Order: sequence, then structure tokens, then C-alpha cells
Amino acid sequence: MSSKGNTNGEEESPSLPSQKICCDKCHGEGSIPSRKRRTKKQKREYQLAKENGLPLPPLPPPTMEPCQVCSGTGLVDMRNSDIDLHPKVKEGTHIGIIGAGIGGMALALACEHRNIPYTLYERDESFDERSQGYGLTMQQGGKALQALGLATTGNDRLLGKGIHSKRHIVYLPDGTQVGEWGMKKWGREGKTKDAKRQNAHIARQELRRLIYNQIQDKSRICWGHKLKSYSEEEDAANMIFQDWQKTTIKQQASIIVGADGIRSVVRKQKIGEEASPMRYLGCIVILGIAPCPQSSDLTSDNESVFQTADSITRLYAMPFAKRGKETAGAAKFENVETGQGETMWQLSFPMDEKDAIELSKKGPIALKDEALRRCGEWHIPIPQLLQTTPEQLISGYPVYDREVLEDEMFRSGTSNAQRVTLLGDAAHPMSPFKGQGANQALLDAVLLARALYTVFRDRNSEKSESIDISLEDALKVYEHEMLKRSKPKVKASAEAAHFLHTELAIQEGDITRGAANAKSTSN
Ligand SMILES: Cc1cc2nc3c(=O)[nH]c(=O)nc-3n(C[C@H](O)[C@H](O)[C@H](O)COP(=O)(O)OP(=O)(O)OC[C@H]3O[C@@H](n4cnc5c(N)ncnc54)[C@H](O)[C@@H]3O)c2cc1C
Repeated sequence: MSSKGNTNGEEESPSLPSQKICCDKCHGEGSIPSRKRRTKKQKREYQLAKENGLPLPPLPPPTMEPCQVCSGTGLVDMRNSDIDLHPKVKEGTHIGIIGAGIGGMALALACEHRNIPYTLYERDESFDERSQGYGLTMQQGGKALQALGLATTGNDRLLGKGIHSKRHIVYLPDGTQVGEWGMKKWGREGKTKDAKRQNAHIARQELRRLIYNQIQDKSRICWGHKLKSYSEEEDAANMIFQDWQKTTIKQQASIIVGADGIRSVVRKQKIGEEASPMRYLGCIVILGIAPCPQSSDLTSDNESVFQTADSITRLYAMPFAKRGKETAGAAKFENVETGQGETMWQLSFPMDEKDAIELSKKGPIALKDEALRRCGEWHIPIPQLLQTTPEQLISGYPVYDREVLEDEMFRSGTSNAQRVTLLGDAAHPMSPFKGQGANQALLDAVLLARALYTVFRDRNSEKSESIDISLEDALKVYEHEMLKRSKPKVKASAEAAHFLHTELAIQEGDITRGAANAKSTSN
């Protein structure tokens, strides 16, 4: 199928077998059907039907329990094994993944664990073409990180790279506290210390690097490949790329996965732009990364998340990099207190779409001026945080999402795309205000890899009888689950883009602003 190659000019790493592989017992699912017998009630019903010659009640669907062999992660370590335990996959299988963001990178790793051949195509010339970007909060995505072999529990989560925040505080611009939640508060109230309650924060690029570093065979990543279009044949999909010299490159795969973000070329061709166009959510986000101001506990402790709002403008700040750890370079640019850790701030406010596009185009100096104009007199440490942010680490975007897709739109589409699917922002872009996009992309990647393995796994050597599953059926199941899970997140993220810029953001109460919104709408 597709040729492999590293167009990045990097030294090619030899093709090493993955050290983690999917578990043979649960086939990488992490769970197996429970051997629990029928309940007494079910047994009685069965007996009664049998005695009375009635149709026997159907067997209840199997409940699932964590696989003991892999402790529920779906992965086992084969470093100490002498035998080749690599899973066998049907010949001719090859996945073309478009886009090496968090979602595409995670899918590549999950395919490698399953020995599913793939090529990852990315339009950027190299891994580090873009800057660090912004910080992510890991929530449900933690489960996917475990399934990718990147996290266990507690402080080991994110292989020690994450920061775990312990309190979340809400302020008015004059510094009056109106809400607080998080671990320290629960601790003070004498409740049990619950490590799981901590949110883990990590820079987007750092998380991407963690996943990238786990990929053994880097020659499967083709940098500088911008997808222009695709077409399908009965048993393959063709892709047309352009490299940086605008040279056309043709490749083939058995299926194509569009992980190419909110402006996805794959989605445009598969679903059509008119079916769910970009939707402006009425506000702009300005982001910056600064050396942690030492003038306040809020930033110097590297453990607090806070938001300050005046019912229109909102500033959210979270730990971005630990003291002495890999940073976005804020400390370096300022050349003061190097190594003190970094804070990411995210300022947002309602704005007309045209004005928001114009402001973001003006660049960092104008964005910083706007931030200082709005919040330069707010409580400590906000003015310092804004002032010390290097211009290189300031960016601004109008906020968009798209209407959620329905299952049928995936399997019909403008092209009759049966060999093409989507994940992450390409499938369900959402506003950043609930911190969910990357979490959902990670969950999609694991779900899809599992679905593909049910199709492409070579079942010949399996002892128990198993039925072949068609690609179309597996994709339908994947798309259904993915949409069901992400739909409420898209909706809640769009709502948050609105209510976080109203009085609700500063309502008194030790509850999350999402909970405050839910309470107000239920009243
Ligand atoms: C300010 C901000 C804060 C956020 N905070 C959080 C948070 O706290 N928690 C959270 O979970 N999420 C958060 N998100 C959302 C999250 O970052 C995204 O949802 C997530 O990164 C999506 O990952 P993805 O892989 O689907 O897409 P992307 O990260 O957009 O990656 C797409 C990739 O595809 C490549 N590409 C695009 N077109 C092509 C093409 N034609 N050919 C080849 N390659 C192509 C791109 O270069 C890119 O590398 C935030 C987003 C923003 C903007």
C-alpha cells in the first residue's frame, strides 16, 4: 500500500518493535465479558418459561469487567519477553491518518500497539514548527492516556510531566473571592483526600511530545504532507498531497482517518461544508504564557487555578510549566527568575466576529494592549502577569465550533465515503471553555484503534470461534459512540462561551461555573 518515509530531514530511526503491545486476552479492549452467572431472578424467569413451554427469555447482554492480565489498560509490556508477541493483522491493511495533532498522534500510537500498519501525514514541516500553544486540562482523557500507556494513576499520571492543581478560585476584579472548589478546600473540611479529584494540566505540545516519543517507528510519520483531496476505490482509498514545494504526492491506504482539526479537508469532502459550517460563538480568546509572578500565592504555588471576571471580560489562569521543567520559554524571553515555572492566562470577552478577526490579525502587541486595557487594573497578580508576558507567547483567536454531526451524515456524505472517518476536532470541534477538545480527541483515538483492530485482526490463530466484522459496521459503531460521547461536550462548551461572560461567572458559591449555570437554568 502506501510508501513510508520521513520527509522531515531528521535522522531516520530504525524500525523498532513497540515495547507495549495490546493484550492478547482482551484484544486491547481493557475489559472482558464478565463470567458472572445469571441473577436468581433471571434464572427463575428462565425456569418458568421452560416449564410452561414459553419462548425462552433472551440472554442478558454480558456485563464487562476489567481484564486482569493488563489491569484494564488493554496493553502489556513485552520488553522482558523472548517470544514475539506482536499481534497479527490481515495483509493489505494500511491506515492513512491525516494530521499529527493530539488526536492523530494518539491514533498512530494506538495502531502501533496493535501492529496495525499506518502512515501519519502532517502538513507541518516538523514536530516543532508551531509554538507551545497553550495548556490543556486533562479530565476524562486520563482513561485514554492509560490505554495509550502514558499514565497510571495519581502523581504518575502523564509520566510525571503534568501539573496537578489543587484549588480553583473565582474572584471579582478587585480581588474579592466569590467561589472556591478543589482539593485543598475538601481537605480543610475534613473529607477524604482524593487524589483522583485533582486535575492534571499539561502544555499541548508537551502532551503531543509524550505521545510522539512513545512511537517507536518514526519513519511512519510524513511531515510536510498537506492533504488536498482523496478518492475511493472498492478496496482502497487514494490521497493526494502537496509538499512545501507544491509537488503533488499520491498515496494509498485501506482507510483514511481525518484528524486534521476544525478546518478539516477530509470533513469538507466527506460531509460537505454546508452541512455544518463553522459557527462563531460570539467571543474572542487571547492567550499568553508568562513567568509565574512571585507576588501572589495564586501563581507562585504552581498549584492554583483562578478565574477573575466582571460579568463581561473573564481571565482564567492555570499552571503551565513546573519550576525547572521544560517550559514555553517565557522565563527565557524575560530573562528574569529563569526556571520559576510558568502560568498560562486566557482572556475572553464578547466581540463582533469581524472585529475579533481584525484584532487577532493585528498580532501580539495589539492583543496585549487590549488585555492591559481591560484588566491592567485588576487584582494582583493579573497586571504583572499580563505585563511580563513575552509578545512571542501571545496569540488570539475568534472562537468557533460546528453543529454536531448525526450518525447518518458519516455513512452517506458528499462522496460515498465508506473508507473514511473522522476524529477529534475534525469530527466535533468545540469551544475551549470546558477544556474538553483534546480529552475527546484522545478518547476517539483509542476507541477507533480498538474498532479497527476488531476488523483487521488476524483471527486465524485464535482458539475461540470469532466472527469477522466488516469495516463499515465497525466504523458505524465507532462513529455512534464518538458522537454520543462528544455531543453534550460540544453543547456545554458552546453554552460556556456565553455564560462565562455574564453575571453567572461571578455568582457567589463554591461550585464550578458550569454547575452554577445548571442551577440557574433548573430554577
Ligand atoms: C485556547 C485553547 C485552550 C484549550 N484548552 C483545552 C483543555 O484544557 N482541554 C482540552 O481537552 N482541550 C482544550 N482545547 C482544545 C484542544 O486543543 C483541541 O480540541 C485538540 O487539540 C484537538 O486535537 P486534534 O488532534 O483533533 O486537532 P488539532 O490539534 O487541530 O490537529 C490537527 C492537525 O492536523 C494538521 N492538518 C490540518 N490540515 C491538514 C491537511 N490538510 N493535511 C495534513 N495535515 C493537516 C494540523 O497541522 C494539525 O497538526 C483548547 C483549545 C484552545 C484553542
